Amino acid sequence: MATGLCEALAIVDDDDEQLIYDNEEASRLLAMTGDLDGATVSACPHCKSRVLAVVALVDIIESAPPLPKGSELLELADDAPTLHLYVQDLVSECEHDDWHDPGAEEWAEVFATPVPTLRRH
Ligand SMILES: [Zn+2]
Repeated sequence: MATGLCEALAIVDDDDEQLIYDNEEASRLLAMTGDLDGATVSACPHCKSRVLAVVALVDIIESAPPLPKGSELLELADDAPTLHLYVQDLVSECEHDDWHDPGAEEWAEVFATPVPTLRRH
């Protein structure tokens, strides 16, 4: 195992299927796809969290040179139950405070923790 790698990016679908990229893979993926701009429906202005359109993402994967985890990503996109995939920036501590649009709400629902186990009062 190489050292210095950490989980950097999670790409999930509406069924909670997820694909994790480490920081090296994530930066390669973003560099090779122009930050996935062509498939981005909505994005946080301050971090890499975003909502992706599945159809556009498949186009990008198929027209790009082999991407890190490209075949797994293609599989995730093909099996996605909705038209969107959700990218979560795992290294940023961003609260997405300036991300206000329907995409942001959709994104937040996907990543909302369903049952809080710890409750403070
Ligand atoms: Zn953010």
